Amino acid sequence: MKRNIIKREVFDLAHVELDKLEKKRQTSNIFTGRLYCGACGASFGSRVWHSISKYRTIYQCNGKYKGEHKCQTTYVTEEAIKAWFLSAINQLLSNRDEIIANTELLIDMAKDTTPLESRINDLEHHLETIRQDIEDLVDRNARKAQNQNLYQEQYDTLVTAY
Ligand SMILES: [Zn+2]
Repeated sequence: MKRNIIKREVFDLAHVELDKLEKKRQTSNIFTGRLYCGACGASFGSRVWHSISKYRTIYQCNGKYKGEHKCQTTYVTEEAIKAWFLSAINQLLSNRDEIIANTELLIDMAKDTTPLESRINDLEHHLETIRQDIEDLVDRNARKAQNQNLYQEQYDTLVTAY
């Protein structure tokens, strides 16, 4: 009983993924560029087969018409590929507990902002130090005659650092 419920979830998930792919492509050849021939390594391209009442999409090796050694691999229907896709998703999600546990671990790691907060504190402290240096420099320049080129150079350096 419980097993059936999980399978149903997985089935729905797989369909959600398929729908996403389908929307992204806005065409029926959603597997174009994702399939490679096991015999010759060429990619599979889609073709639409028309008949009187309906059409269907098939995929075939792009090496079929190329070169001296034409690939003999037969075509596959989109329905068959979809079935393979569902089967692959099912296999992947059979370790769903492990996948979820790993994902939660990664989320926890990403949520730990302690090192970033420490870095923010360091940088704020550094900013305050520079700000104080600029204030001291301006103050000194106001009270005492000094080389203005040197002053400007120091001032610019501090402002840039800030
Ligand atoms: Zn081939």
